[in-house]
Amino acid sequence: MHAALITGTETVELVEFPDPTPAPAGVVVDIAYCGICGTDIHAYQSGRPYNPAICGHEWSGTLSAIGAEVNSLSEGDRVVVAAAPACGQCTACRRGQADRCQVSFLSAVGRDELAPPHGGFAPRLAVASSRVVRTDSGLTDLQAAQVEPITVAFHAVRTSALRLGDIAVIQGGGPIGLATMQWVRAAGAGKVVVVEPNAQRRELACALGAHHSVAPGEETDTLIAELTHGLGADIVYECVGRPFAVQSAVDLARRGGAMCLIGLAEGDAPISPGAWLVKEIAVTSSLAYLHEEFEMAMGMIADGRIQVEPLHTSTTGLDGFEAALADLASGTSEQVKVLVDPNR
Ligand SMILES: [Zn+2]
Ligand SMILES: [Zn+2]
Repeated sequence: MHAALITGTETVELVEFPDPTPAPAGVVVDIAYCGICGTDIHAYQSGRPYNPAICGHEWSGTLSAIGAEVNSLSEGDRVVVAAAPACGQCTACRRGQADRCQVSFLSAVGRDELAPPHGGFAPRLAVASSRVVRTDSGLTDLQAAQVEPITVAFHAVRTSALRLGDIAVIQGGGPIGLATMQWVRAAGAGKVVVVEPNAQRRELACALGAHHSVAPGEETDTLIAELTHGLGADIVYECVGRPFAVQSAVDLARRGGAMCLIGLAEGDAPISPGAWLVKEIAVTSSLAYLHEEFEMAMGMIADGRIQVEPLHTSTTGLDGFEAALADLASGTSEQVKVLVDPNR
């Protein structure tokens, strides 16, 4: 069996692995689709040593083998990737901080005991049984492959300072920005603005329910001033993931407003502490998700409140994976979410 791994700067290799077998507490997933994430693109560009279990972490599939100690799942169950539930044993759990469980966190970043030597850009994958959740019966495998990034945005909005009626700005109209925009609407924002340089993505943002979508710069400043009587947005979600975007998110917020950091910038970001103090800005930041949030997010995709099909712009086989990464890394790609079908 071959799995695609990012092994260096702009380098992808198809590496041969033995057919996986489940650990006693593990399962084997036959991968249906695996999405390409911004993290994969960063890895491809930077070439920095990369945890192979994380390359390809947005997958859906079907269980084809079950470990001897697993009794809550069966062969043939359709599943999506998830973070493990809180363990109840680690120091954080014992301190009453189960939502900060160290075992759950390590699983979300692919550093748990049963972390595989490759990710979902492969026909089969062995993982801990705690790392899968049954797919909502209302979702296709194609929809289910986007549950992971949708749940990233769900967790961010759920833990942010959004209030009913707020004027909310989403910086960045990529897969995470467009998912965040939909959750912000579902959570009751009054007006939702997406700031995005790519015209096609701006169009998609409005088709998915944004009230406005604008190019960054002067046009954005004018629109937000108009909408807020010159005060600034109540809350700004940073989904660009580039260093400059941290300060620009705060610049768009009003005094007493909030910023939610979701995009992960490589390296440090320059900020103006004076502007943060003057605004008394409230900051939340968000990484990954909790086990229980996968079912919640899937339910709201299944009932139509969150749309994933329009985000999916193409599907490729493992042979087209590197070309897809290069295109997404180019900065001028017309793709939003590219899914890999490893059986193609
Ligand atoms: Zn991701
Ligand atoms: Zn724990």
